[in-house]
Amino acid sequence: VEFSLIERIRARTAVDRADVRVGIGDDGAVVSVPAGHELVISVDTLVEGVHFPARTDAADVGWKALAVNLSDLAAMGATPAWATLALTLPDGNATWVDAFADGFAALARESKLALIGGDTTRGPLSITVSVHGFAPEGRALLRSGARVGDRIFVTGTLGDAAAGLACLDPTDPREAEFFNAAPGLREHLIFRLNRPTPRLAQGLELRDGASSAIDVSDGLVADLGHLCEASGVGAVIDAAHLPASAALLALFGESERRVLQLCGGDDYELCFTAGDAQADALVSALARTGGGVTCIGRIVEGAGVSAVDETGAEIVLPRRGWDHFSP
Ligand code: ADP
Ligand code: MG
Repeated sequence: VEFSLIERIRARTAVDRADVRVGIGDDGAVVSVPAGHELVISVDTLVEGVHFPARTDAADVGWKALAVNLSDLAAMGATPAWATLALTLPDGNATWVDAFADGFAALARESKLALIGGDTTRGPLSITVSVHGFAPEGRALLRSGARVGDRIFVTGTLGDAAAGLACLDPTDPREAEFFNAAPGLREHLIFRLNRPTPRLAQGLELRDGASSAIDVSDGLVADLGHLCEASGVGAVIDAAHLPASAALLALFGESERRVLQLCGGDDYELCFTAGDAQADALVSALARTGGGVTCIGRIVEGAGVSAVDETGAEIVLPRRGWDHFSP
């Protein structure tokens, strides 16, 4: 293993935490979990050409590799603490590793998260991050708590990241249109794709009052579908209420916008449910964290997710979301 690469990563990502007794450098890390808390653990892999386009800026890849994992902790209502990083690199390009580590570190510092170990190997570019966080015993938020009649909410806006991917597609017939749009619009969408914001503060608020939660990584319909399956319920989405950014509204017409909002992946917003008695207080608490939150539908009896337009007519979806192993 290239010691110098590990040393570069260690130096660039240093975050001091009193609960790390042994970090990078030994055979294993040694950490302490605060009394009365449980560990919440999640892992995600990003593969070049699958999860991000080849030649994506290394700092963006570093940020996103951590962000997608922190988003899972947010959806669990957990506070991040530590991470490990398994890096597979085609070569020992120190410039790339430095930029990658800087992108990772920018978000790690913001989240007070310490990188405590990892592995470094040679092969096609792939990044696996595992994050560890805490929640008070018995308080972690699950997918399985949604009840018939609950309202469904999402944070932020939907469809931006998938729209950003379309903006980067050199074969998209509207490429010139995207470029000629008002300044900042195309850039906003691409930024949402490359630098997702994990909704950690919102996730903590959800512990008081939300009945279930999931993060939107594969697309709203797909992820809400997972939540419904875990809860044994169905869901109806009011498509007209789906929150859209100004950039999405400016660059995409209504029908395509709806597909991006319903099925587009990579937004890393939180989708959660709450009963009528809890919903208003929860929305106020979330508003105090500074992020937007929108009611987009209701939990119903049965199974599966459907979306309706303002007339109540069901919207036919071209695809459910992103699934690596579907034909
Ligand atoms: P071992 O062979 O004992 O697994 P390594 O040489 O793989 O040791 O790693 C040495 C130390 O560097 C370990 O503490 C490991 O956790 C850490 N490490 C290796 N690669 C990374 C990485 N990409 N990011 C962070 N820490 C790493
Ligand atoms: Mg090793």
